This record gives sequence, structure tokens and C-alpha cells, in this order.
Amino acid sequence: MATNLKVLIAAAEVAPLAKVGGLGDVIGALPKALVKLNLDARVIMPFYRAIDKNKYKIKLIKSNIKCNDQLINLWQTDLPDSIVPVYLIEHNFFKNEGIYSTALADGPNDIEKFAFFSLAILESAKIINFKPGVIHLNDWHTAAVAKLLKSDPFFRRTKTLLTIHNLANQGIIGAQNYLAEGISNADLINTVSPTYAKEILTKEHGAGLEKFLIKRKKQLSGILNGIDTDFFNPATDKLIKYNYTAKTLNKKSANKTELQRLLGLPKDKNTALAGLVTRFVGQKGIKLITEKFSKLNCQFIFLGTGEKKYEDALSALAKKFPGQFGVQIKFDEKLAHQIYAASDIFLVPSRFEPCGLTQLIAMRYGSVPIVRATGGLVDTVSDQTGFNFKKLDSAEFYKTLAQALEIFYNKPADWRKLQTSGMQQDFSWNKSALEYRQLYKKPLN
Ligand code: ADP
Repeated sequence: MATNLKVLIAAAEVAPLAKVGGLGDVIGALPKALVKLNLDARVIMPFYRAIDKNKYKIKLIKSNIKCNDQLINLWQTDLPDSIVPVYLIEHNFFKNEGIYSTALADGPNDIEKFAFFSLAILESAKIINFKPGVIHLNDWHTAAVAKLLKSDPFFRRTKTLLTIHNLANQGIIGAQNYLAEGISNADLINTVSPTYAKEILTKEHGAGLEKFLIKRKKQLSGILNGIDTDFFNPATDKLIKYNYTAKTLNKKSANKTELQRLLGLPKDKNTALAGLVTRFVGQKGIKLITEKFSKLNCQFIFLGTGEKKYEDALSALAKKFPGQFGVQIKFDEKLAHQIYAASDIFLVPSRFEPCGLTQLIAMRYGSVPIVRATGGLVDTVSDQTGFNFKKLDSAEFYKTLAQALEIFYNKPADWRKLQTSGMQQDFSWNKSALEYRQLYKKPLN
């Protein structure tokens, strides 16, 4: 019998144990799909102080392992609802309050911490005698492993794959750039959508690393992220009041009037409602939403937190047009689900977007996305499922939204078709896991 391919997936975030953003979601979900394909996929992460030992039934498996001149302890659990082993490395470096020391996730403390984590990944694999066919690295935090393992005979037959989830954080200290070194040393490189994989070869989207990426162009590919289709399921979602499916879409509008009531917008199931759920940062194109949008026959609900200037701009809109714009400045999983379920239209006007998850979730809930044609948004939203605009320009965005509203109000059958086409897409991890398996097995040249 052929032995199953062994894969060690190393990351700074693993949902639900420790999550800040999309990276955590991916590492929490992909390994489960890989195990279903009979891969021996295991995860390794730092044991942050905030992780609840009892809640996740984390057990000590080995103490006082030597790592350079330091000692680490190795702990183990499984990803919840799965058989995926998760190894957690305990050391004083990971005893701080948060996962990252700054919002940018690559402050000086983080660099020392993740450089040590990278060393400890290799020592831990040796201690448990797990000789992986592939070590799957994620973002700059673990990128150093690509070079480190080359001098260790234990990993003679181990390949490295580096996945870039976010090119903006690179782990820079002095002249050293951890992500750039990872790109140069990893056997294979991928990012989270095919279009973004091409875009990052350009000056516009390369974040200064395009030279390194161009050199490795042959080894660079793009694989779309999936979403957790059980967690995001309008038929069973416990966070929304009225469950529905593509066949019972008429029930969706009860969620709209419920949300209008909740947020103090005029209660009217026939008025279009546009939603936006995101981090309020430059990347997300928030500044394209202006007062002019008040001229449209459409209500708006914005949920997010981030830079103050965007929070203030959106709050000002809600203050000036209280019957039309609703703004909630917070992180709120339940409200996010309620907005996906309630909205007719979902806005994703990003400046750049490696993959983007909100448009996928919106489609699953029958909310038709209007996206800027960039990165993963190009790969996931088509004319059959939504609308796109090309230029990063408020007038273009406005025009596209006006066109969508035209169909919403005057061609209900066409609108319903857009909704159901979106709902019928397969956004599960199954397809992407197959692509990752293929990449893991790709012969090197
Ligand atoms: P990014 O990783 O750049 O933040 P993604 O679109 O990949 O963007 O992922 C965003 C995820 O975070 C989605 O699941 C979205 O619903 C969620 N999210 C973003 N902001 C909020 C918020 N304020 N409250 C609840 N969920 C949010």
C-alpha cells in the first residue's frame, strides 16, 4: 500500500484557536479537507498565552526540547471536529497577550519571535519523528523554514511550499526581509487566487517583491480559498432569524426587515439594501463611497472597524442621511451574518484583494456582489453572479450600483437568476484541497 503523503502545515494563526484574519480561517479549514483526501496533514503553531488549554484539550507531549540555546515544550490537540493533529510550541516568546505585537503584524518583537518559531518547527518535527514530504509555510512568519531546512539531513527529502496570504507584511529587520528570503528559497510558491498570482508580478501589486517573484515565476501559482460552507449556510445558520435556501428565497426579505428594525432604518422589504462587511483600511476601497450614493434608491449598512478616517467618513454619512445609511463600528460575527442574509447587494470595492471571502459568503446568502475587478474578485464573481467595475473610481462604482438597482427594481426574474446562480456555486474547500494536493505532489524541476 502506498504511504500517505505527510504534510506539516506551519502558521502563526489557526482558527479557532488563534485568529486575527483570513490566514487563521484558511489554516483552520484546509487541513480538514486534506485529511478527507487521505493526506497525513498536521498543523504546527505557537502556543500563545491566550489559547485556552482546557477548552481545546491540549496535552503536553514532550518537555525541555533543545532548540538552539533555548528549551521548548511541545503540546498537542486536534483541530476541533476533526482528526487533524495540531502541535503547539511553548516558549516565553509566545507568552505575550496577542498573536502579533502590533496591528501591522511585523513589529521587531514579532520578528525575533517568529524567527525562533521557524527553528522550533524543525526541532519539533524531529522530536516526534515526523518526516514530512512537504512543509507548507504561510506568510513571512514561517518563511525562514525554507532555507533553514536545507542544512538539516533529516529533511533531505522534504519539499517546501510557501503560501502568500498577504504580501503587505514581509517581516523586515535591517536589510533582512523574511518574506523575500522565503520566496527565493521555497521549492514552490502560491497565493490565494490565480489573478492575484499574476498581479503580484507587477510593480503596482508586487509590494516591492515583484523582482523576487518574477525570478520564481515558474514555481508560482494561485489557488482560490474556500469558505466554511457549514458555518456560512443560510439554510441552517443559527445567527440569522429566518433560514432559507435558493428554493425559498422569498423568506430572505424577512431578514431584511428584521435588520432594518434593528438598525433603525425605514422598514420596507421592497427597498434595495446594500451591505458591506470589512476591515476599514485603504485596501478595501471605502473612500469610493461618497455622499452622492444617497441619490440612489438604496439603503446601506456598513459593518467594520479600522482606520479612524474611514470610520469617521462612514459615520458622517449615517449622521447626515439617517434613513438611508446605517454604520456599525465593531467586529460582530452575528451582525455580519445578519447583513449577509438581509442584503440584496453586497459591496466589495477593493483597491487590491488577494482572494476575498466576503463576496463568497454574500453569494452563498443570495446577496449579489458588486466588486472591483481585481485579484480574487475577478476569479470568483462573473456576469452570471454579480457585477464588476474596472477603475478604482467612485463614479464607476456608482454607475455599476445604479445598473444593478435597475435590474433589481425592473427585472425581478433576472435578479433572482443572479441570486440563485451565486447560491449554487461551490465555495467549499473540497476543490481547492485537490489543487493543494496536486501542488504538494508536483515534481520539482
Ligand atoms: P481580509 O482577510 O482582508 O480581512 P477577507 O474578505 O479575506 O478579508 O475576510 C474577511 C472575513 O472577516 C470575512 O469572514 C468577514 O465576514 C469577516 N469580517 C470582517 N470585518 C468584520 C466585522 N467587523 N465583523 C464581523 N466579521 C467581519
